[in-house]
Amino acid sequence: MKRRNFLKNSTMGTAGLISTPILASLDKDRSNPLTDAQSLIKPFPIVICTWNFANATAKAWEVLNAGGNSLDAVEQGVMIEEADVDNQTVGKGGRPDRDGNVTLDACIMDKNGNCGAVVYLQNITHAVSVARKVMEKTPHVMLAGKGAEQFAYANGFAKEDLLTEKSKKEWLEWKKTSQYKPIINIENHDTIGMLAIDKNGDISGACTTSGMAYKYGGRIGDSPIIGAGLFVDNEVGGATATGVGEEVVRTVGSFLIVELMRQGKSPQQACEEGVRRIMAKNKDRKDFQIGFIAINKKGETGSYCVHPGFSYNMISDQGQVNQPSESYIKP
Ligand code: ASP
Repeated sequence: MKRRNFLKNSTMGTAGLISTPILASLDKDRSNPLTDAQSLIKPFPIVICTWNFANATAKAWEVLNAGGNSLDAVEQGVMIEEADVDNQTVGKGGRPDRDGNVTLDACIMDKNGNCGAVVYLQNITHAVSVARKVMEKTPHVMLAGKGAEQFAYANGFAKEDLLTEKSKKEWLEWKKTSQYKPIINIENHDTIGMLAIDKNGDISGACTTSGMAYKYGGRIGDSPIIGAGLFVDNEVGGATATGVGEEVVRTVGSFLIVELMRQGKSPQQACEEGVRRIMAKNKDRKDFQIGFIAINKKGETGSYCVHPGFSYNMISDQGQVNQPSESYIKP
């Protein structure tokens, strides 16, 4: 089903009329007041995430459907992938860096603009939950490496070996040539970025990854960087990214997309402009993948990527769909 049809159908579903205070806040920063009938229908709860992580979105939906808030939904949603050892770019089972160390990056952001992040975290599966603890229990936004790990242990997280036999075997094979050549849609394709709107219309987001396979030891990507891999502004919407993080950082991609939505662009238009900015800085280079997804306060969604092959999942009271993303480079 086409995304637009799906959304239209979902907004015609069981959800009730949007409340007056929410409408007022939606109208606040907009030049075009919400007048059409569809805008009067409540289009959330809704969850979207990068790629086709159906179990993760289903978990987030379970939280929202039970009346939970968007922050709990995105945390519990992405934790599914962190624990899945078959997912080799998130959490336990992630591919290691060139030295054989699995190092995790993650961040989380709530409706009030509070955020937490961990970078270069080792031996802890649920990096997103450590990031949430950083947000809630410290005066800081980001903890790195040993400090993040010690903080996690102090908060009850268990030490685990994140390098699975499968990822170790592949790394040993990679070492024979040691060429850093991320393969589009394969080696850089599993970061999970998730955005959710709960029944109150509040938006939260989370992003978690083991980063680019065989990266330099100490390398940090976009995923834990607030504004790059993830950004949420509860007045406007949220955006998150997957792909070669260096390119996302150079344009502060997720912040850019949210600001473009603030200026009136739809999530789709904003994602397209985000990719276009990246490509404008890479006139001679197209051998990398980036995928953005975005949602606005009305529950409208969008996505765009460099190469065909990226998709995103969306779940609402009408069920779950995996929506292929349009791409800058045409199939
Ligand atoms: N964005 C991640 C990074 O650069 C990689 C990915 O999406 O798989 O670390």
